[in-house]
Amino acid sequence: MLSLVEKLYETHDLTDEELINLIKSEDSEVSEFLREKADETRQKYYGKKVFLRGLIEISSFCKNNCLYCGIRRDNKNAERYRLSREDILSCCENGYELGFRTFVMQGGEDAYYNDEFMCGIIREIKNKYPDCAVTLSLGERSNQSYKRMKEAGADRYLLRHETADVELYKKLHPNNMSLENRKKCLFNLKKLGYQVGAGFMVGAPFQTVENLVSDLRFMQHLQPQMIGIGPFIPHHDTPFKDEKQGTLELTLRLLGIIRLMFPKILLPATTALGTISPTGREMGLKTGCNVIMPNLSPVKFRKKYELYDNKICTGEEAAECKGCLQRRVQSAGYEIVSEKGDCIY
Ligand code: SF4
Repeated sequence: MLSLVEKLYETHDLTDEELINLIKSEDSEVSEFLREKADETRQKYYGKKVFLRGLIEISSFCKNNCLYCGIRRDNKNAERYRLSREDILSCCENGYELGFRTFVMQGGEDAYYNDEFMCGIIREIKNKYPDCAVTLSLGERSNQSYKRMKEAGADRYLLRHETADVELYKKLHPNNMSLENRKKCLFNLKKLGYQVGAGFMVGAPFQTVENLVSDLRFMQHLQPQMIGIGPFIPHHDTPFKDEKQGTLELTLRLLGIIRLMFPKILLPATTALGTISPTGREMGLKTGCNVIMPNLSPVKFRKKYELYDNKICTGEEAAECKGCLQRRVQSAGYEIVSEKGDCIY
């Protein structure tokens, strides 16, 4: 099995069968070797740098009903809020002072944030902070809408595909959503010149190892600039409330594989990883991750953006959060930098 890690390190690819074997292996020696090779690869291209993305959760309203999500439309217990233009700008101001050079506006699919609103706020942020990147994570929209927002100055778009297997996609989403449209959105975004982030859940209900290989193959086809993966964590007010959560071990295994398959990728150590283990993000950083996405949203709204149970970092101000992360990143042997942090290809 160690030779598979070596082959992946050298050639950045394996056959489906080899990938399945590597994902399935529970050998701790393999895990450690994969971690070492993933770390070596990230250091070759990005040194010890860790890029920050300031996350601004602009809306907890969503018209969709994804079965795994805490803010799905049918969750009557979810508390809903929307950030105003002023709220968003104040988050950016706070973030800029703290050294953030990327702002990510993320929310459910909420028609309130139409193109006019979004283009206005994107222009304002870009005018005030020309040295910063604006990232959007607002779900599926029309090509026209993506185009307008790109022309207004948006740089990046995050849209996790969640699973590249059509049958599994149907089990995780209601009938009115389709994997085909999601993929179409991702390719549209790429064509428009966005730096794109895709990604998937690890350990989702009904997911097989073969499904995970499909996700890796889809990534090879899409060639995104960022890949965000995190363990599935159930939310108590969803149909998946009694499902098992994804494991730390499998998530780390996939992070290592992704770093070796896509050596120059931007790879976040996600909040979900930090939620399933107190040192999950540090372990992620040691296994090839080079991005962290701290929360810049106003504290009074944070608990309301509850995509899954026990989400961490919902109680601290942004400055405290950054201090805590700085210590965590340093303890893992890396260094937070105040840079836009573009992908190097
Ligand atoms: S996963 Fe996204 S699209 Fe689906 S319900 Fe949640 S916020 Fe809405």
